[in-house]
Amino acid sequence: MVAPAVEAPVVIGLDVGGTKLLAGVVDREGHVIAEHQAPSPDGSEEGVLAALDAAVEALLDDRVAAIGYGIPANLERGTGRILWATNLPLTDVDLLRRARERFGLPVGIENDASAATLAEWCRGAGRGTANLLMLTLGTGVGGGIVLDDRLFRNWVEVGHVVVDEDGRECTCGGHGHLEVLASGSAGDVAARELYGPEADARLLVERATSGDDAARDALAGIGRHLGAAIGSLVNVFDPEPVIVGGGFGAAAGDLILDAARETARREAIYPADETLRIVPAELGQEAGLVGAGLVAFEALDGIR
Ligand SMILES: [Zn+2]
Repeated sequence: MVAPAVEAPVVIGLDVGGTKLLAGVVDREGHVIAEHQAPSPDGSEEGVLAALDAAVEALLDDRVAAIGYGIPANLERGTGRILWATNLPLTDVDLLRRARERFGLPVGIENDASAATLAEWCRGAGRGTANLLMLTLGTGVGGGIVLDDRLFRNWVEVGHVVVDEDGRECTCGGHGHLEVLASGSAGDVAARELYGPEADARLLVERATSGDDAARDALAGIGRHLGAAIGSLVNVFDPEPVIVGGGFGAAAGDLILDAARETARREAIYPADETLRIVPAELGQEAGLVGAGLVAFEALDGIR
């Protein structure tokens, strides 16, 4: 008699972004098997939690063995409790316990940028490395760190590294932070200065790609700010490699990364000034979803 094939468990990952909620069924290798997309919930805490539940229920079946959430939030270390979230009305919410009780499955939760970092480390541009830094350049600048073969699970606000203490005011109230100097929003500001009030970072990248010197210079300037921050962080913990992703990071590519490499190597101490690699992320917009899936597998395996 042939024993029936045992189906490998899969998990549900949820990547809760500023504009959309992306949920998916993910296997252990980080492949996304099924996907469910909805506009990002707004309004009340109750409405957000109901939308998250609906996304899980849309994908839930007998093979699903765990659930993982990537949330743009500051989480309490140890408990995973949401202390406060960016762009979502979630303050002091124990989503982990709530989801465990509701679905009767192991549940994991991680900051969304850290989840994306986990994905790039396990399945993307950081495979096989023990120390890495990931920076996501989107509307703001987020990131994550892998240190000594483990995702660093504490405070990682790399977007708020000071690059120019007399610079533009940051979203956090500080000045000249990486977030206002190297994000898509910085691209928007540069585009408006060059091409008028309707211009944005997308146009800036388009113009630079077609050879416009002013646009290329503006993006190189953004790249130098990025490189200064990277050089400082490299001198703190010597990540190898530095991975740059996010919507703006992916669109601008070498238009900012070439200048970032030059500046970072100039600032980095030996031997990182020679060995430092700054590379594009590989998983694109799926990184957050894949990472949330990997967080779910960690919960299933009892790693956390
Ligand atoms: Zn800041």
